[in-house]
Amino acid sequence: MAERTVGEAIRDAAERLAGSSDTARLDAEVLMAHALGCSRSSMLLSRMRDPAPKGFAALVDRRAEHEPVAYVTGHQEFFGLPFIVGPDVLIPRGDSEVLVEAALAARPDARTVLDCGTGSGALLLAVLANLPEAQGVGIDRSPGARVVATANADALGLGARARIVEADWHAPGWDDALDGPFDLILANPPYVETTVALDRSVAAYEPAEALYSGEDGLDDYRILVPQLPRLLSANGVALVEIGYRQAASVAAIGQEAGLSSRLHRDLGNRPRVLEFSTAA
Ligand code: GLN
Repeated sequence: MAERTVGEAIRDAAERLAGSSDTARLDAEVLMAHALGCSRSSMLLSRMRDPAPKGFAALVDRRAEHEPVAYVTGHQEFFGLPFIVGPDVLIPRGDSEVLVEAALAARPDARTVLDCGTGSGALLLAVLANLPEAQGVGIDRSPGARVVATANADALGLGARARIVEADWHAPGWDDALDGPFDLILANPPYVETTVALDRSVAAYEPAEALYSGEDGLDDYRILVPQLPRLLSANGVALVEIGYRQAASVAAIGQEAGLSSRLHRDLGNRPRVLEFSTAA
């Protein structure tokens, strides 16, 4: 039998993945480009008639078991930057890019940035990449996340401006060594209700401690948001990602703490980010 080409193997894989993924063809192409060690565009331009690489089938097997493509390739793009990802960190979502945009628009002059629950470092590093004068610190309670975020800071050439620290906002004194206050605070805390059944690809693979936050999903906001006024510099701004039904509840937690808020919507026009400030 003639060897299968890249193009044929992609077509077969897309058929196989149709049952487990809404983006089967794209998934197959991304996995094949990864197996070939080239970009998807150069694969589509010039590699489709090459023999299919041996390693491809094993990658497709993993995706067929609902593992996210980003964990299979170890890579996810966010805000136009390449990020290393793995099972210790949430995969950066396109919807979170609005938080970065809102941060850059609110304080283009920011010199100090704190990212609470930095995970892969995506929010912090995307902001720092666009604010060449700023210094940042990303905290996470997960030691595994600290390793990934540090690797990303170094890989993006931001290691000298981004400090990644293991810390947990539930612990007294957690911010003592952070050199605050901060002009910008970013946070994508866990906010999923523990009762919600997430997609299998999320629930079975992404870190539960980055997703769930009590029965109503608000536990982490209740701890973190009241601490923001203490952490913000004068005219400082905090951008907090929220679930699309949580805007009113989280704004109320902020108001209780003396923070005024402004809502930003994501690409699907759903409430996604609250911008908190101490100014009236
Ligand atoms: N947006 C994520 C999801 O829907 C949740 C992220 C979070 O809890 N911080 O899976």
